[in-house]
Amino acid sequence: EVAPAANFIRNIVEADLAAGKHAQRHWAGQPGTAADHAAAPLDAAKLRTRFPPEPNGYLHFGHAKSILLNFGLAQQYGGRCHLRFDDTNPEKEDQEYVDSIIDAVKWLGCSWEKDGESNLYYASNYFDWMLQCAEALISAGHAYVDSQSADEMRTNRGTLTQPGKNSPFRDRSVAENIDLFKRMQAGEFADGQHILRAKIDMAAPNINLRDPAIYRIRHATHHNTGDKYCVYPMYTFAHPIEDALENITHSICTLEFEDQRPFYDWLLERLAEAGLLQRPLPQQIEFSRLNLTYVVLSKRKLIQLVDEKHVDGWDDPRMPTLVGARRRGYSADGFRLFMERVGVTKNDSLIDYVLFEDAMREVMNESDQRRIAVLDPVKLIIDNYPAGQVEECFAPNHPLHPELGQRSIPFSRELWIEGEDFMEVPSKGFRRLFPGNMARLRYGYVVECTGCDKDADGKVIAVHCNYLPETKSGTPGADSVKVKGNLHWVSAAHAYQAEIRLFERLFKVPAPGARREGDAPELERDFLDDLNPESKQTIVAQLEPCLKDAKPEERFQFERHGYFIADRIDSKDGQPVFNRAVTLKDSWGK
Ligand code: ATP
Ligand code: MG
Ligand code: MG
Repeated sequence: EVAPAANFIRNIVEADLAAGKHAQRHWAGQPGTAADHAAAPLDAAKLRTRFPPEPNGYLHFGHAKSILLNFGLAQQYGGRCHLRFDDTNPEKEDQEYVDSIIDAVKWLGCSWEKDGESNLYYASNYFDWMLQCAEALISAGHAYVDSQSADEMRTNRGTLTQPGKNSPFRDRSVAENIDLFKRMQAGEFADGQHILRAKIDMAAPNINLRDPAIYRIRHATHHNTGDKYCVYPMYTFAHPIEDALENITHSICTLEFEDQRPFYDWLLERLAEAGLLQRPLPQQIEFSRLNLTYVVLSKRKLIQLVDEKHVDGWDDPRMPTLVGARRRGYSADGFRLFMERVGVTKNDSLIDYVLFEDAMREVMNESDQRRIAVLDPVKLIIDNYPAGQVEECFAPNHPLHPELGQRSIPFSRELWIEGEDFMEVPSKGFRRLFPGNMARLRYGYVVECTGCDKDADGKVIAVHCNYLPETKSGTPGADSVKVKGNLHWVSAAHAYQAEIRLFERLFKVPAPGARREGDAPELERDFLDDLNPESKQTIVAQLEPCLKDAKPEERFQFERHGYFIADRIDSKDGQPVFNRAVTLKDSWGK
């Protein structure tokens, strides 16, 4: 359990709840008239947030911050959080993305359903309502059809230091505007021939208020509405209306929308004046987006990684997507802990990836059962142990949770141990196996190393030892011989041999593609040049026998190694393959 810490958004929410600011009518989720709203019962929730992805790609770690913030607030304050597909842009959207977003939000443990309300919405279901809003603006003299070319509009928009120029079409009559807008909807014009603009102020210091476009012509097929419409609302027009229609109280977005807030407020005020929306109106609040070292979160770059096959698809465990994270074996609770630690502020910052990994380790250390895996196997032969004999050893499933019990692992004459646990000539401080030294086979016996066999190239192919029969773990004689080294093992005759994928960071520098100190002024870096060529390694390992039965997405701590998950795609029944999510300790760069 992560205790929610104070942050500026929670402070706003608490103040608003205390003041009763958002006591409002309950809205069942379908566009209606203002009278419908007024007739609805009072909403008990009083807090409504939303996560509004555009279904044009896969969600990434940055989206997780927004998801956990919005759903987390709703949960903390007894409110509701809507999942809303902001699907107002026909060209780029697809059902595949809708499905993957639903899966990812669920995987993070967030639920939009509450008290029998589904709270799952599609902005495209409001298109008729948005057209009505646009016509109301025209009728009130707050919008006009502009027929300038895109170039003319750009030029006349002015700059940060120069005011814009009024369009020659700005003073069209209401009747003419209504007529043209109807004909735009009827499909009489080509894309770009006309555009509907809000009529605000071409000299406004905030460029976003210089008569922003609100409806454009696009003869395109939409994934939900098909060919029903050939005009589509601009995001900046659609979004506030979506929020208001859904009675969102706090519309939380990232900082780049700060300059849009005056238009957000302007639009909702005009529509409330026209009687189309009920007060209180939603309030937009901005926070800083998540930036992480060693990770790119730009959609363009993620697409490039996939399209150019630098990774094996969107769900490659090295991708900073939520489908990638799930396959990698990261934990949803780990995301929650990480985001809580990162906090919510208005300051842009770059978070160290180690913080992310540490949150994962902390959560998984608590949640994951222990198992034994030998990743770099070398035979250990116990010469004084009877051939063919098998006995049971017992290992606790979780040292922090004795209630999870223990399991039996077979012990026999030939075991697999890690190559690095034997040194023919020990380095200083080495305490595991070397000729003449004793060490404990964890959960088994103390053994004394007697030597090794080598192949023609001098490579160690087997290590020899004798065991001390009275020293078995869990028996009275266990402590009769004191040793300093301790190593893990699996019985060679019983081991489950499996493919394991070891992942490292996808990029080898903290800020992929960014200029570095000492770079020549003309040098432009490409983030692809910073890819880590060793980010994926596939090995064949020897695992304790019960891991053969691991189900897809079961995750374990492999003792001394890290946290591993049975891959949800490539595992077959009785033949799981494992992905390493994260090592036990941070060894990056060491
Ligand atoms: P695009 O606009 O190019 O589709 P996007 O990342 O903004 O990209 P959206 O689907 O619009 O994608 O994002 C949904 C929500 O996630 C938005 O509210 C957005 O502000 C938020 N979000 C996106 N990236 C981050 C980030 N890095 N940190 C926090 N929130 C983010
Ligand atoms: Mg998106
Ligand atoms: Mg966006």
